[in-house]
Amino acid sequence: MSEKETILEMKDLKKSFGTLDVLKGISLEIKQGEVVVVVGPSGCGKSTLLRCINGLEGIQGGEITLRGETISNQTKNMHLVRQKIGMVFQSYDLFPHMTILNNILLGPLKAQDRAKKEVVKEAEALLRRVGLFERKETYPRQLSGGQKQRVAIVRALCMHPEIMLFDEVTAALDPEMVREVLDVMLELAKEGSTMIIVTHEMQFARAIADRIIFLDKGEIVEESEPEAFFTNPKTERAKKFLNVFEFEHVK
Ligand code: ADP
Ligand code: MG
Repeated sequence: MSEKETILEMKDLKKSFGTLDVLKGISLEIKQGEVVVVVGPSGCGKSTLLRCINGLEGIQGGEITLRGETISNQTKNMHLVRQKIGMVFQSYDLFPHMTILNNILLGPLKAQDRAKKEVVKEAEALLRRVGLFERKETYPRQLSGGQKQRVAIVRALCMHPEIMLFDEVTAALDPEMVREVLDVMLELAKEGSTMIIVTHEMQFARAIADRIIFLDKGEIVEESEPEAFFTNPKTERAKKFLNVFEFEHVK
């Protein structure tokens, strides 16, 4: 067994909204280069989990650390910690009045104070990799949903995050655009990016994951290797969840 460094650790994480307990004690450790896919029924707390990791939500118990540094919205240097976490959502929220390139440059130049020349070079290389170099001077409205989502991924990568979080990034896309976004993520995984992915694309989850986390009602119900999870889930709850998917898939 190789001893990879732990990037992110959660210990007994608890999150509630008023009287609604959404995360009921999540413990999870993510190592360098690991790809963890979180699946589970709608409303089970997947997005909330990612939002807590990214410091967008305060937590009511437990602890989250990124390379040993505590993440909480009380942390004085939270903006610096958050820069180390790249997040891509379902809606790409690019600035409509800025070109693709300027959307990507904004974070590295304004928040990280990096040299423009170097960042432009990197942004262009990343755009080339996702097949959008020649679109760099266009505006978000001129791109398809799949293209915008690829730009959103590049924008996050350009900040040099320690870990990337993806929350159902293909859920709002037309079917023919899903593939081009998933392919970019597969390539990142191959290159060793550390990622937590929330998705309903089960084939993709099976292909990309080192580990599957099955979340239900705010608890980790199963944690398995993908083959084991998809061929032989341990719990009735996971079986039920996967059955629904197969049914939808056939439909
Ligand atoms: P998932 O992403 O797994 O579908 P979410 O994390 O979005 O689930 O939501 C988990 C639960 O928390 C749901 O019951 C949802 O209604 C509730 N919830 C999420 N965000 C808020 C909020 N800001 N205020 C109150 N309840 C919320
Ligand atoms: Mg969600």
